[in-house]
Amino acid sequence: MRIGIAGAGPLGLTIGYELSKAGHEVTILEAEEDYGGLVRTARIGGQDLEYFYHHIFTNDQEMVKMVEELGLSSALLWREPRDGIYINRKLYPFTSPLDLLRFRELSLFSRIAMGSLVLRARFVRDWQKLEAISAKEWITRKAGRDVYAKVWGPLLQSKFDRDAEEIAATWIWNKFKLRGSTRSKNLSKELLGYMQGSFITVYRKMVAAITGAGGRVLTGAAVNQIRQRPDLTLDLRFNGGELNFDRVVLTMAPPALKAIDLPFPDTYRARLDQIRYKANICLILELKHSLSPYYWLTVAEPEAPFVAVIEHTNLIPAEHYGSHIVYLSRYLDEEDELYRLPEDVVADRFLNYLQQIFPAWNRADVKKIHFFRAPYAQPVVGLGYSRMKPGYETPLKHLYLANMAQIYPEDRGQNYAIRLGKEVARLVGEKEG
Ligand SMILES: Cc1cc2nc3c(=O)[nH]c(=O)nc-3n(C[C@H](O)[C@H](O)[C@H](O)COP(=O)(O)OP(=O)(O)OC[C@H]3O[C@@H](n4cnc5c(N)ncnc54)[C@H](O)[C@@H]3O)c2cc1C
Repeated sequence: MRIGIAGAGPLGLTIGYELSKAGHEVTILEAEEDYGGLVRTARIGGQDLEYFYHHIFTNDQEMVKMVEELGLSSALLWREPRDGIYINRKLYPFTSPLDLLRFRELSLFSRIAMGSLVLRARFVRDWQKLEAISAKEWITRKAGRDVYAKVWGPLLQSKFDRDAEEIAATWIWNKFKLRGSTRSKNLSKELLGYMQGSFITVYRKMVAAITGAGGRVLTGAAVNQIRQRPDLTLDLRFNGGELNFDRVVLTMAPPALKAIDLPFPDTYRARLDQIRYKANICLILELKHSLSPYYWLTVAEPEAPFVAVIEHTNLIPAEHYGSHIVYLSRYLDEEDELYRLPEDVVADRFLNYLQQIFPAWNRADVKKIHFFRAPYAQPVVGLGYSRMKPGYETPLKHLYLANMAQIYPEDRGQNYAIRLGKEVARLVGEKEG
C-alpha cells in the first residue's frame, strides 16, 4: 500500500520504519526543516545534542530492542548519575533511599511513608480506580500532607504547572511503579541510558532504512489539508504539493490538528479538543565549569522560573562538547506570558534564579545560550483520562491518529513512542478482508 505519515518524530519514524519493513511504500511528511520531532538536535562543540534533555531507563525495553535491531547497541551507554533537590533554598542529594532517609525537610515518619508509597506502587493492580482521584488526594491520603506539599506537589507542578492539582493519581502511580522497578536489583542505584552521539542516531538509522527500502522522508512539508476520494484513497495537501495515499497516519499532537483542513464531524472535533498539552521552554547553557555534582536537580520552589536543572555533562563527559552542558527546563501553558517573552528576557530571568541556587556561580561562566520552545511537550492527564484518550481510527476510513496522548497509563517517552508505533503500524498495514 502507499502510506502517508504526517510527522517525523520518534512515533512517525517508527511507524514508517515498521511499514517499510513490511513492504509498504512509505512517505513521511515533516513540517520542520529536519526530522526527529522533540528529539531534534543542535550541533554543540561538533556534537549532536538534543534540544530537550533525553535519557532512557533500564526498563525501556522497546527502545533497547530497537537500538539492538538497528545495530547501535555498542553506542548505548549506561551511567549512574546523581540527583538532587533544591527546596527551602537548600540543596539536598536525592538519589538513593539513604538520601531520602537523611532528607531533613520531612519528619522521619513522613520519609518512611514516602518511601513505602513508592515501593508499594508496584503492587497496585487496579490502576483504573486511581483515575478517579487526583495525585494530590492519593499521596496526601497514603503518605501525608507534608510529603505532597514538600516533594510530590512541587514535582507535579514542575510537569503540569497550574494543572498540577488536577492530575490523576494514575500518572504519579505509574512513575512510582516504573522508577521502583528500575531499582529492583539494587535499591541505591539507578542506571540511565544515553546514545553516544545523541538519540538522533537511532532515528537517522530508521530514515536510512526507510529510504533504502524506496520510501521518502520529506522535510519542510507541513500537511495542511486532507480529503477523501470516492475510492476511499486520501489526498493529502502540504506546502510543497499534493499526494494520494491508500492510508494516512497523523502523528502530531491533537491540538495541532486544528492547523489542518480535515472533514471531521463537530462531535469528533469536540472530543479531540478535550486533549490538552503543556508546552516547554528549554535553555541549553554552554558553561566553562561544572555547576554541581548532580545530573538531575529538581527545583521545588514555587517562585522559580524553571523547574529542573539538568547537567547533561554529569551523564556524558564534557570533553565531548568542549563545554559543560546544562539544560534549564520549564513546562507551562502555551498561552502563558513567559512562553511568549523574548528569548533574552527569559534567559535573564532563568540566569538570575540560577545564581540564587548557586550563589558562588558566576554568570561570566556562560559561553553560549541556546533557546528552544515546544508547544506540545506533555499531554495533561486529568481525572478519567481513559475516557478522553483518542482512538487510532477516525471518522474517515483509512485515516488514523497516533500521538503521545494515546500513551496511557504510561507517560510519553521514546520507549512508548516505539511501542505505540509498532502497534499502529500493525493496524494500518493490515489488508482488509
Ligand atoms: C522537555 C522534554 C524532555 C523529554 N525527555 C525525555 C527523556 O528523557 N526520555 C525519553 O524517552 N523521552 C523524553 N521526552 C519525550 C520524547 O521526546 C517524546 O516522547 C517523543 O519525541 C514523542 O515523539 P512523537 O513522534 O510522538 O512526537 P514529536 O516528537 O512531537 O513529533 C511530532 C512531529 O510532528 C510534526 N508535525 C506537527 N504538525 C505537522 C504538520 N501539520 N505536518 C507535518 N508534520 C507536523 C512536528 O514538527 C514533529 O516533528 C521528552 C520530551 C520533552 C518535551
